[in-house]
Amino acid sequence: MYYGFDMGGTKIEMGVFDANLQRLWQRRVPTPRDSYEELLRTVITLTKEADAEIGSPGKVGIGVPGIQAGGNGALFTANLPAAMGRPLQADLSQRLQRDVRISNDANCFVLSEAWDEEFRRYPVVLGIILGTGMGGGLVINGRLVNGYNGITGEFGHFRLPCDALDVLGVDIPRQPCGCGQTGCVENYISGRGFEWLYAHFYRQPLSAPVIIQNYRNGETQAMSHVARFMNLLAICLGNLLTIFDPHLLVLGGGLSNFDEIYRQLPEQLPSHLMPIARLPRIEKARYGDAGGVRGAALLHIVGE
Ligand SMILES: [Zn+2]
Repeated sequence: MYYGFDMGGTKIEMGVFDANLQRLWQRRVPTPRDSYEELLRTVITLTKEADAEIGSPGKVGIGVPGIQAGGNGALFTANLPAAMGRPLQADLSQRLQRDVRISNDANCFVLSEAWDEEFRRYPVVLGIILGTGMGGGLVINGRLVNGYNGITGEFGHFRLPCDALDVLGVDIPRQPCGCGQTGCVENYISGRGFEWLYAHFYRQPLSAPVIIQNYRNGETQAMSHVARFMNLLAICLGNLLTIFDPHLLVLGGGLSNFDEIYRQLPEQLPSHLMPIARLPRIEKARYGDAGGVRGAALLHIVGE
């Protein structure tokens, strides 16, 4: 059996899957915030409980909101303070006496989508999460690409392209980013960026759902905002399509539920791509919140 853990800032979800990716059961417990020892114990207890129920040790995969950096396996994670700088994979592997695999949660999201019954025929799958920030991952022939530093998929941290300045104006503030740079695209095209742009241009802070509702009601300001945003999104994602040339682009995160994206993006993208480029299939994520545990369980299934 395969155990997938989705370790979030507030809760840990665990799903138990068979080799056909059928989920047998799922558990959810609060994430210990302060104690690393307690965090380890929580994963160990859930694993042992599942082992007892199944009657043999399952394989453990874990999605974390962070990156295993620096070659020594130390976890870099702002959202999991108890595990910051800790070698979570090594510690759990040792205590559970098995090969525990850990990956970034956005990677698990993309892996889950790439192994969808219908999507798995696509050789190159690019996944992008447009949530509070912007993350994602790349799956080639069913396998995650991790890169040298585990950074593949941190698509939100390339800086605004020059043609974005045509849309936003050259004096658009280069927003400071959590990564230490300024002007990273995630500050403009994530769900948070969507709201920031509205506040910047109209001097009025509104939430994304309210802006979208105003757009649907035909309100002029919201209409121009969405037009500008779609243009910017096409410019930024167009760059990623040129770099990776995927067969399938899957969008997840809160903003991916704004269905207008799937109508406007295919219309706008071609002008930002090479003339010979065919548009990839563009789809909304199919597994939602359940993709995290499914993708984590897949860390073992596709590794065999
Ligand atoms: Zn950044």
